Amino acid sequence: MATTTADRRLFIAGEWIETGDWLEVRSPYSGDVVGRVAKAGATETRRAIDAAERAMREPLPAHKRAEILVRVAGSLGRRHDEVARQISDEAGKPMKAARVEAQRAMSTYTFAAVEARKLAGEMVPMDAARAGEGKLAFTLRQPIGVVGAISPFNFPLNLVAHKLAPALAAGCAVVLKPASQTPLSALLLAELEEEAGLPAGWLSVVVGPASEIGDVLVEDDRVKAITFTGSGPVGWTLKERAPKKRINLELGNATPVIVAADADVDTAAEKIAANAFSFAGQSCISIQRVYVERGVYDAFVERFLPRVEALRIGDPADEDTDVGPVIDEDARERILEWIRESKGEVLTGGELEGELIRPTVIANPGRDDKVSREEVFGPVCTVTSVASVDDGIELANATRYGLQAGIFTTRLDTALHAAQTLEFGGVTVNEAPTFRSDQMPYGGVKDSGNTREGPHYAVRELTEERLVVIELP
Ligand code: NAP
Repeated sequence: MATTTADRRLFIAGEWIETGDWLEVRSPYSGDVVGRVAKAGATETRRAIDAAERAMREPLPAHKRAEILVRVAGSLGRRHDEVARQISDEAGKPMKAARVEAQRAMSTYTFAAVEARKLAGEMVPMDAARAGEGKLAFTLRQPIGVVGAISPFNFPLNLVAHKLAPALAAGCAVVLKPASQTPLSALLLAELEEEAGLPAGWLSVVVGPASEIGDVLVEDDRVKAITFTGSGPVGWTLKERAPKKRINLELGNATPVIVAADADVDTAAEKIAANAFSFAGQSCISIQRVYVERGVYDAFVERFLPRVEALRIGDPADEDTDVGPVIDEDARERILEWIRESKGEVLTGGELEGELIRPTVIANPGRDDKVSREEVFGPVCTVTSVASVDDGIELANATRYGLQAGIFTTRLDTALHAAQTLEFGGVTVNEAPTFRSDQMPYGGVKDSGNTREGPHYAVRELTEERLVVIELP
């Protein structure tokens, strides 16, 4: 059972405000209302941008930004249970996974604090060209300006942290629009930033109709960058509509992994079972497509299926649950439809247990099945027998996505070959491609995006280089 019920005001220009209109947040598991949030629209969004622009006229020095970030990390540690419970309640995320997310957000803030302290430009070797003789030059890293941040439902805390913490480290004020289904963790984070001493205007959180708020962020020239995590169609449209802004996109994937004939099949089966179904597959790097070399296909399936069938399905509030609900009924119906449409053989799952989709494994689906090409974003994984690692790589590359991919192999040459030929932003070897640690450069190629998150990389994307040239006496 979900346990918290809270009314949350919006945080705009350093004040907690009501708008007279409330948006209900419901548990994806029980359907119970777990909180209500004051609903914002275009007016509140413009007010938030005004405040952000005003705040940035008085820059916060790096040591103050770093101290605030460190304090937020500390609060996340002290209030771990409450934070994890909040994530679980609003997203239906099993407590096991919610606890990991809450810990990771601490780590995101900690890494961002380090970046705030070491943000610096570089010397330019001017006498390397005849024209530069007698001159000194260096670059400054200037905050890009007001940042509009838009986040998805599936990591309602840590993906918000990946927007807010690097922006503050870079010296930018933020107007955040969290997902309407999961705004409570974002508002809790705003509360922690305020308690940590963030001055008014540096962060506002607007919850409400996406297109209305999105339109204001796109059209207002004072917003210099939009950092968006979510689905491709929304993200690429924002980029088309705002060609003069920096639009940083973190989008979807249909995550593949290859199991070579020389791999440690047992380890591969264990890691893939754990990472294809965590949070019911609703991670952008949840394993969706497994390509197994023919010689070990049967051995892999034999080890994989019992592990999938052993996963505990149920109430996300239960600390032992592995797989909970998907975000809503529409998602559930779409996923079941994609399973039904597939030409492959359902080896396990494929149906509901109560209201929850059982972890589903489909063997040898058709190349054009949706489960082979599109992002399922549900507890569904395909296994396909391939003649060679190269065939696996070809199939892995045969989607429009390119976020992360993986390979299990004991051969160094095979691992390096895969790392060079898989067209993805990241390749894991003998680790699930679902692996992410928050300092890593994380982001995709192709339709999966155009940026890298991880505080060190995000800070670079939210600052501009300014060149200073000095004529020496
Ligand atoms: P989504 O439907 O695209 O929503 C993401 C955010 O965009 C939400 O805040 C949503 O607001 C907002 N939005 C929707 N329409 C908009 C518009 N016209 N203008 C401005 N904002 C708009 O995605 P989702 O279903 O929440 O998340 C799942 C997707 O995110 C998957 O594709 C997943 O792979 C991707 N994802 C990627 C990463 C990564 O790092 N690469 C990480 C996590 C998730 P509302 O909630 O109000 O509709």
